[in-house]
Amino acid sequence: MGCLFCNIIEGKTPSKKVFENDRVYAFHDINPQAPVHILVVHKTHTKDIEETSADRAHIFSDLFEGVKEVAKLTGIAEKGYRVIINNGPAGGQIIWHMHVHVLGGKDNMGPMMAK
Ligand code: AMP
Ligand code: ZN
Repeated sequence: MGCLFCNIIEGKTPSKKVFENDRVYAFHDINPQAPVHILVVHKTHTKDIEETSADRAHIFSDLFEGVKEVAKLTGIAEKGYRVIINNGPAGGQIIWHMHVHVLGGKDNMGPMMAK
């Protein structure tokens, strides 16, 4: 049983790539929740935020450099966008390879949470 996002990074599972460097990979979410909905993943498999640590803090800077590239490439950087990490079961995480959702392409992303 492999990891879906590791398989996507390795090209074993197809994806619509937006950006890639030696540390991160970004691709279109298969079930977009906004006109622009991209997932940014680190090439090092990390399950969730709990599995990160101070000595691997570069994971976050790498991911957010990827977010900035994605925002630039998809044309949402200037207007603004929303970034979400669903962490753990109660946080709505369903894929156990930590990832950042980048959502945008609208004038207003609406309320932060569904009531
Ligand atoms: P999360 O709930 O934060 O774990 O989000 C997982 C996200 O992965 C969801 O938004 C799914 O639509 C998305 N997803 C699942 N499978 C794929 C896939 N093969 N390619 C792209 N996105 C996917
Ligand atoms: Zn993985």
